[in-house]
Amino acid sequence: MPTIKLKTKVPGPRSRELMARRNDSVARGVSSATPIFVSSAEGAVLEDADGNRFIDFAGGIGCLNVGHRAPGVISAIRAQLHRCLHLCFSVTPYEGYIRLAESLNRLTPGEFRKKTLLVNSGAEAVENAIKFARAYTGRQAIICFEDAFHGRTLLTMSLTSKTNPYKAGFGPFAGEIYRVPYAYCYRCAYSMQYPGCGAFCARHIEDTFRRVVSASAVAAIIVEPVLGEGGFVVPPAQFFAVLADICKHHGIVLIVDEVQTGFGRTGALFASERYGIEPDLIVTAKSLGGGLPIAAVTGRAEIMDAPGPGAVGGTFGGNPAACEAALAVLNAFETDGDNGLTARAERLGNRFAERAREWQRHMPLIGDVRGLGAMCALELVRSRDTREPAEEETKAIVRFCYEHGLVVLSTGSYNNVIRLLVPLVIGDDEFEEGLHVLQRALKSVSLSPELAPARSGPGAGSTKATGARSARAPSRPAQ
Ligand code: PLP
Repeated sequence: MPTIKLKTKVPGPRSRELMARRNDSVARGVSSATPIFVSSAEGAVLEDADGNRFIDFAGGIGCLNVGHRAPGVISAIRAQLHRCLHLCFSVTPYEGYIRLAESLNRLTPGEFRKKTLLVNSGAEAVENAIKFARAYTGRQAIICFEDAFHGRTLLTMSLTSKTNPYKAGFGPFAGEIYRVPYAYCYRCAYSMQYPGCGAFCARHIEDTFRRVVSASAVAAIIVEPVLGEGGFVVPPAQFFAVLADICKHHGIVLIVDEVQTGFGRTGALFASERYGIEPDLIVTAKSLGGGLPIAAVTGRAEIMDAPGPGAVGGTFGGNPAACEAALAVLNAFETDGDNGLTARAERLGNRFAERAREWQRHMPLIGDVRGLGAMCALELVRSRDTREPAEEETKAIVRFCYEHGLVVLSTGSYNNVIRLLVPLVIGDDEFEEGLHVLQRALKSVSLSPELAPARSGPGAGSTKATGARSARAPSRPAQ
């Protein structure tokens, strides 16, 4: 029995009516990737206001690794509702906050003494990680990366790379932020000069210390283990080994932003484990709360204790119900053992890669297939030689998908990447059904008379997934 069930054309009449009200009442700057108004959700399935049923490959942008309404999360929240809803940890503390801090201290990578701060959102956690690093080192400068995304507040927007829509018109930005290239191997700026590069982009930071900002002024390097909004870019492990060495050598705090990669997404509880790195500070959010807003900074006790009492925190940070939900999420990972959600993430990722490589053989539109665990993606290009980003085609695929019962998101600095953030609890049949819709979307767009001609030409049949061509600029000619 298929899961997808469409009773109306999508969006249906009720969703269209709600969209009109939304347009009248909600700020235009809040975007919605689909025009579907959801009335209920379970596992990896959404039902909209018109009674249409969708498979969810987006999970509220990676917030539902344990699934919509995970039973453990629901019962933990329910139990908390009978005790108290809000106290403010800065006024009258409560045990749930401590239990969650203890769990995060224990479960995050690194065999050293750790402490945790709980806040409400990924951006707030990143802001605080920077505060900890500055207070601890007494330095101000921060190094971040091209194509990074760390949030939309003033400081995190300044750390974020993509200009439109995140930064254009919102300056001036926060100072003392220095940006260097990430290991985006498919669009590498260096590989023509340094074949077999040995993570040249990371090593190049030493040069930045000479030419741009002194290492002795740098408080922290902040990095995503896999770029989220930047296009699901998975660097080689060597990239992080070099970064960790540089940080250690210069007394710089290594902050790893696991907001999107955390909690099983990449086939380990934290992506840092997949690279064998032990961040000084690790930032988590999204799937931590199993659907409730909560975020954390966890790291070396001496760094976390650098700011004095009252210097960090907030009214709602570590809300009691959100703490219980997060504890239930962690419990789901701990009790499932080797056959649990992290193993499932790996299996889903492998299955996706298998299907996607097969598609790639027949569809020149698919330039790159990549991923780590179930954080997987397709980078779409108009030509495999120039690697010109296929932005319009990507939009058309997202649209085809939701019109045919699959919610899927695009991403990337060039808006040309289809990404999967499917709840890890999805059933095998549901996953295959979703992949089938995605396949139909890719085929339909590949064959579309308006979009297809631009992709013909030299190299259209190549199956090379990643390469050493310099292709950073969107429409750079073949070299
Ligand atoms: N950091 C990363 C890597 C993210 O992906 C995001 C959000 O997508 C953030 C930070 C900001 O999180 P929030 O939207 O909860 O503020």
